Amino acid sequence: MNIQGLVLRSTTQGDYNKIINILTPNGKMSAICYRAKRAKSELLPISQPFIYANFNIAHTPNRGLDKVINGEIISNFFDVCLDLDKLTLATNFCKIAEFVSQENTNTSSTLQLLLNTLYSLTKRDDLPTIDAIFHLRLSCILGYTPQLFTCVHCKNKIEGNNVFFDKSSGGVLCHNCNKLNYSTQNNNFHSHPTSDATPITAETLEIMRFITSCPAKKIYAFKNLPDDISQFIKQNSILDT
Ligand SMILES: [Zn+2]
Repeated sequence: MNIQGLVLRSTTQGDYNKIINILTPNGKMSAICYRAKRAKSELLPISQPFIYANFNIAHTPNRGLDKVINGEIISNFFDVCLDLDKLTLATNFCKIAEFVSQENTNTSSTLQLLLNTLYSLTKRDDLPTIDAIFHLRLSCILGYTPQLFTCVHCKNKIEGNNVFFDKSSGGVLCHNCNKLNYSTQNNNFHSHPTSDATPITAETLEIMRFITSCPAKKIYAFKNLPDDISQFIKQNSILDT
């Protein structure tokens, strides 16, 4: 079978074999590349992390791992290996993508995001911006899009300043609801389970609205976000660890 996928991870098995973990549009999978560690192996170039390739894979039911027969590189993101900070970030993105993806499910949005992210990493140096955008957008893909247009409590439309972000409620709180929140917390008022709302600037809110709703190809339109904004976005994504 022919499978397009990105190599997330590559591990050695025995003296010469490699097992690769791939993210495909239809879920994650692993496959074995026999003798891929030999210098002359045609599997050597396609069994490395950050390779996006067309793999020819033999499905071997009941006989262990599927086997990579050969493959052709579509694109590689090796340039991330030239910079330790980029390599660390790229490795972490692949790790997160592997963790949140299942086998035999539609993972095309995650794959597309990861490919766009690795491409941006090879071209740009504003790493905190890329890190923040990846975290927020992946949260959305996984179904945790923060509510940014209306208050999570009273449902009123949110505009301008004096807005708060409440991570535990998954979105923004208007000034009034945030005030109510503070005054009711001490009275054991449980109608709204929030406690850690933080002020969010109009600029940050606009940026987050764009990242959560723009077409996939425009996701990295923002460059060089101020550090406090990048940090805010990453810290308030559900994937922040
Ligand atoms: Zn409200």
